[in-house]
Amino acid sequence: DIQLVPDFGRLWVDTLFETFLDRTGALGELDRRAGDGDFGTNVSSALRRARQSIDVAPPSDYSGWLTAISRGFLGTGGTSGPLFGMFFRDIARCAATGEPTLGEFSSGLTAGLATVQRYGKAQVGHKTMVDALAPAAGTLESAVAAGAAPGTALEKTARAAVGGARGTIELIAKRGRASYVGDVARGVLDPGAAAAAMLLQAAALAQAG
Ligand code: ADP
Ligand code: MG
Ligand code: MG
Repeated sequence: DIQLVPDFGRLWVDTLFETFLDRTGALGELDRRAGDGDFGTNVSSALRRARQSIDVAPPSDYSGWLTAISRGFLGTGGTSGPLFGMFFRDIARCAATGEPTLGEFSSGLTAGLATVQRYGKAQVGHKTMVDALAPAAGTLESAVAAGAAPGTALEKTARAAVGGARGTIELIAKRGRASYVGDVARGVLDPGAAAAAMLLQAAALAQAG
């Protein structure tokens, strides 16, 4: 089982800050079209809260970096705040010692998906973040089983997440606020799925360096 790139936790979190904060407006716009419009501010306030805690007390290891992100989301409103918060808590816990191996990271992603589904009760096809996370977790498990290199594996994982997120465009929502608007949500990319794909793209970028 192969170690991820040294300092993967810090690199991933830095990449999240770089790639997410200027796209929260677009994510909020998606939530305005099919929800209540707060998704962008929910995500940006979660990340800002995480950055503040990191500035006050810089994390010293992988678990510390990802715990800061988890706590940022857990302190945020909306449905996505607690779900992403618990997702990142599982991701933070995946490394037995120091930095995760690819296999440990895969286990963390699978555990995070299971937690999101346990609390949110969403299945694939319900037009939620699960539509991006489930194919990603499955793809990464297969890549690990096939002995893929971490860079290749995380690249495939991100592509699976993006494909899953794009697939939400044509769906009618069965969970969350978008389920209240029925057919109006058809044609709108699910913001939570888009965000989940973006965070896995950030992981692939962090690994690629
Ligand atoms: P709210 O709808 O409470 O305003 P947010 O705007 O923060 O919540 O988050 C909306 C996103 O949360 C959706 O785009 C969807 O991906 C995700 N979501 C909503 N309900 C669920 C659920 N039951 N399970 C998983 N994800 C969900
Ligand atoms: Mg919302
Ligand atoms: Mg809301």
